[in-house]
Amino acid sequence: MQIITEPGQMQTIAEKLRLSRQCIGVVMTMGALHEGHLSLIKLAQQTAGTIILTIFVNPSQFGLNEDLHLYPRPFEKDVALAKAAGVDFLFAPDTESVYPQHYQTTVTCSEVTKMYEGEKRPDHFKGVATIVTKLFNITKPHIAVFGEKDAQQLAVIRRVVEDLNMDIKVIAAPIVREKSGLAVSSRNIYLSIEERDAATILYKGICHAENRVAGHEHNLQTIAEEIEGMINAIPGCRSDYVGFVDEVTFEPAETAESGKEYRLLLAMYSGAVRLIDNVMICA
Ligand code: AMP
Repeated sequence: MQIITEPGQMQTIAEKLRLSRQCIGVVMTMGALHEGHLSLIKLAQQTAGTIILTIFVNPSQFGLNEDLHLYPRPFEKDVALAKAAGVDFLFAPDTESVYPQHYQTTVTCSEVTKMYEGEKRPDHFKGVATIVTKLFNITKPHIAVFGEKDAQQLAVIRRVVEDLNMDIKVIAAPIVREKSGLAVSSRNIYLSIEERDAATILYKGICHAENRVAGHEHNLQTIAEEIEGMINAIPGCRSDYVGFVDEVTFEPAETAESGKEYRLLLAMYSGAVRLIDNVMICA
């Protein structure tokens, strides 16, 4: 595995790979690699012969009061995990080479970023759309794998790729969960044992929604309110949002039509740690 830190060098390598007719797959991460990230690499390897893993903690997608400076950066451990996973190139640039002096261009996506994460974290998706576009231009992939764990992010990236005519196939990877149902996340290390236990209410909420829809409850608003109640009833937990969207348009949905697919989006705090989760539900 080769480690690259310069965007220009990564571009030259990617161009050579393309000329030698290699299929390039990219997996973008902020590092602190875990089973979720490794599942994305495995999925990319099913389609692409050459895998580029990017590790970059992107400052422009963090809000002023968020955890940018606390974000875990176990680089040596990540290198070992990436190597063991069969990654071919690890692209890990520093902030100055990604956003040099005089940098001023951003990518924004409108409707799909208005609610949920976009509403709670202003400018987050501008940061995401911009860095993903830049990393696409640097790594020149044929395919890119993103996790369903960040469902709204995935919807934004699909929009950007389609709207800007990028010739890249976006592949979604299912959420990897711990035995307790808690979705694996780099931020889980911030949780105390009690907070981690309390956080399992998020998955219980998902199971509740699946059962309610299976039992023919079509009022999605009611189900969302029930889940908010379940979360807020746990000491130390606070719901940030719970809502259903149409799986295709990502527009908020209040009533379910039989046979249609919806995505339940959830965000909550366990102590001071903010967690997100989601599930696709077929009515
Ligand atoms: P991050 O490093 O948190 O920015 O995540 C990088 C990529 O890994 C994104 O596409 C995430 O959606 C994906 N990812 C993070 N956690 C999981 C998980 N538990 N299961 C599947 N994919 C994940």
